[in-house]
Amino acid sequence: MALTFYNTLTRRQEPFEPLKPGRVGMYGCGPTVYQLPHLGNYRSFLFFDLVHRYLVWKGYTVDAVMNLTDVDDKTINGALAAGISLADYTAPVAQAFFEDLRTLGVREASVYPRATERIPQMIELIGTLLERGHAYEVGGSVYFDVASWPEYGKLSRVDLAAVREGAGLQERERQAVDPDELGKRDPRDFALWKAAKPADRAVGAVWSTPWGEGRPGWHIECSAMGMAELGETFDIHLGGEDLIFPHHEDEIAQSEAATGKPFVRYWLHVKHLVIDGEKMSKSLGNFVTLRDLLEEGHSPAAIRYLLLGAHHRKELNFTRAGLADAREALRRLQDFEATLAHHPAAEDAAPTRLGEVAARALAEFEAAMDDDLNVAAALAALFTFVRESNSVLHSAGPLRAEELAAARRSLERIDEVLGVLRLARESARVGEDLAAWVEERIEARQAARARRDFQAADAIRAELAAAGIVVEDTPHGPRWKRA
Ligand SMILES: [Zn+2]
Repeated sequence: MALTFYNTLTRRQEPFEPLKPGRVGMYGCGPTVYQLPHLGNYRSFLFFDLVHRYLVWKGYTVDAVMNLTDVDDKTINGALAAGISLADYTAPVAQAFFEDLRTLGVREASVYPRATERIPQMIELIGTLLERGHAYEVGGSVYFDVASWPEYGKLSRVDLAAVREGAGLQERERQAVDPDELGKRDPRDFALWKAAKPADRAVGAVWSTPWGEGRPGWHIECSAMGMAELGETFDIHLGGEDLIFPHHEDEIAQSEAATGKPFVRYWLHVKHLVIDGEKMSKSLGNFVTLRDLLEEGHSPAAIRYLLLGAHHRKELNFTRAGLADAREALRRLQDFEATLAHHPAAEDAAPTRLGEVAARALAEFEAAMDDDLNVAAALAALFTFVRESNSVLHSAGPLRAEELAAARRSLERIDEVLGVLRLARESARVGEDLAAWVEERIEARQAARARRDFQAADAIRAELAAAGIVVEDTPHGPRWKRA
């Protein structure tokens, strides 16, 4: 079966055919680096990872682009409140975001462009829109003229009349306070460029253009970065469903009005994450970050498993009980992996159905993922594989080496997409199981010294040092601490 995606633009599940054979360009809206993303954002970033990994798994060369929004109202206000420059304010947040991605085992994107590094492309795009009559300038700010673009609304299918009236009422209140909105001719129009204000100047968020000094609006950032990295038309754009309107609608309008070409061919959107059945919000006090969960002692692999395990077009209800279930599921996979690794092999063993079970598991996993990345069905295929294999492994003596190898290979191939087993292995050395690992290595070192194998003992000390662990020998035996 061929890979299919549900495309928000057409509201249909369609076969995926990239523009260039064998090569895929994909773009995901990344974080705004004014504070660390919450868990709902990470659901979206892990979906980006899933699509990226699965396309690579299918044999495509993937140009994967995720932007960082490092200039907007929130980052400017944050920098202003902290009394530092915009660049100084956003740099540590961006760094912490990349740490979080590594913690969650996210495959690195090809490029992570930052909005402040792509300002010339934005200015050029706005210039084209002005030339073509799709934008107008008022007092140094530039707005997109929605009335000039009849296709506006084709992604979100919003009722434009309702937007006009509803927004119109809100606009009158907003315009009284927001200088960026003052010059709009129509409430539906949106800012492409915002004339410099004192706050922008105070934090160094000001760039020169033919129409005066200022800074870009949020929507134009993604259009300019996407097209700069992937061309005027590219294959896949994804993000949270809350970005469909107005952000992605505005991206389409700006890009297509400027180039006269289709902007994106497949739009993929991830549904919300709720916490204990409620919308996550600061006011409800249920705002959860990745780091909160790590501090509670949850493992990155279990968090990754839970955030990935539901189909992206279904709401995910995040609970601590769900996290415990994820940990249990992961443990079953780890036990299975260990059983496969240690089961005895014999040349004269009688054939079993293990090889056939392994081949079918891989085929069912792929069929589920091809069906609009149905990861829930893919996991079901994986656990059928575990159950059927275990019944063979537990009832048989030594097995044929090629059958065991086929089962290991299927599990490894599946984990190339899910990335949970490898993450569990990696974090065992740095996360919750650190103490157990260190104790085990120290015991091994003591044993080596007891048999006067000082070379082995020194090698273990070096291994611990490389992991950031210092061992001190005291009269009461060895003690260890983090360097
Ligand atoms: Zn975006």
